[in-house]
Amino acid sequence: MNFADRMHELKPSATLTISAKAAELKAKGKDILNLSLGEPDMPVAAHVLDAVANAGRRGNAKYTPVPGLPELRDAVGCYFDRAYSTPVPRESILVSNGGKQCIFNICQTLLNPGDEVLIPCPYWLSYPDIVLLAGGKVAPVPTSPERGFKITTADLERCLTPKTRMLFLNSPSNPTGACYSRKELEKLALWAIERGIIVLSDELYDQLYYNDNGPVSLITLWQKHPEQVVVVNGLSKSFSMPGWRVGYTVGHPDLIKQMNKLQSQTTSNICSLAQEAAIAALTGPYDSVFAMRDIYGRRRDAALKIIGEWPAVPKYTPEGAFYIFLNVSALYTPEIPDSTTMCAHILDAAGVALVPGVAFGDDDSVRLSYSIEEDRLIAALHKLTPILGKNPA
Ligand code: PLP
Repeated sequence: MNFADRMHELKPSATLTISAKAAELKAKGKDILNLSLGEPDMPVAAHVLDAVANAGRRGNAKYTPVPGLPELRDAVGCYFDRAYSTPVPRESILVSNGGKQCIFNICQTLLNPGDEVLIPCPYWLSYPDIVLLAGGKVAPVPTSPERGFKITTADLERCLTPKTRMLFLNSPSNPTGACYSRKELEKLALWAIERGIIVLSDELYDQLYYNDNGPVSLITLWQKHPEQVVVVNGLSKSFSMPGWRVGYTVGHPDLIKQMNKLQSQTTSNICSLAQEAAIAALTGPYDSVFAMRDIYGRRRDAALKIIGEWPAVPKYTPEGAFYIFLNVSALYTPEIPDSTTMCAHILDAAGVALVPGVAFGDDDSVRLSYSIEEDRLIAALHKLTPILGKNPA
């Protein structure tokens, strides 16, 4: 069959590929410790499940307005008031199928062919493909573990061209767990704003931080510069509801209108019951969110204690999300020359699934997720130690 040109450039999601391989080995009876997952392993709060059951019984099965139920858009507005003391009006909010569709809609709405997007690298693996689908070009901004995987305005300056149209920021970061303070994040955003560049702040993991900074958002900067800042968040990570597919964009009302037009001709509203769940999650108690944060914080500390003993792996402190990005290049050999072969070797030899860093734009590294029970996490790290805890090759 002949397919459209754009399909040749599109890559399948590497996280899903490795999960499939791990599932295959599991089906053959091998005990696989899966540290490749990009989703929380916590249950959904009981009051959220009750709200969905009640909505289902009420027969809530109709189409809803494309940008989301008015009550949900107001609940999103209240979230920003609760978390950041910044209420957001309904007309600035669009609800989409997860953060992924938000970012897709934003790129389709704002990018013209050839426009460049500055993306700190390593990056969440769908960014490049979403940008490519919109005709844009990725301009990776390199970071390193030595600098805690954070970029500076000097890095941005080096990658700036007359074609630069957008800057993506993602804190806490997938895949590194790096977190910017509010001051740091605003400094990067203001650099872009001063140059007429639009900032997309991907805040999917905002409640999952393990430092004293509190959650960080560009929402107050959005209030001051609504035409130049777009905030994306959702319930997939902080509320442990990835499968419910609830994401939202906060943007200038004109941008929201254009995105709404696009969504009305593609997917329409998100599932009506998922919207009811999201209203309950956003307006209800946040105890389970905070409890999840404490659990992840403890797991992270336990993992860092073991990884801290591995001499060949550069140290840094991931302060958020549930990932640690390990630069394992000092352990590469002629037989294991890159992150893909390293992950395949680890899966075979140790029965532990990790994600090759090449998927995130960094072939020197592998991504470890601690979204797994602590005893299994520790068991996995002990199995990894004979491989990753060696002296440099
Ligand atoms: N942004 C980042 C940084 C992510 O890690 C993910 C999911 O893994 C998303 C966006 C997309 O989130 P969703 O599952 O809500 O589409």
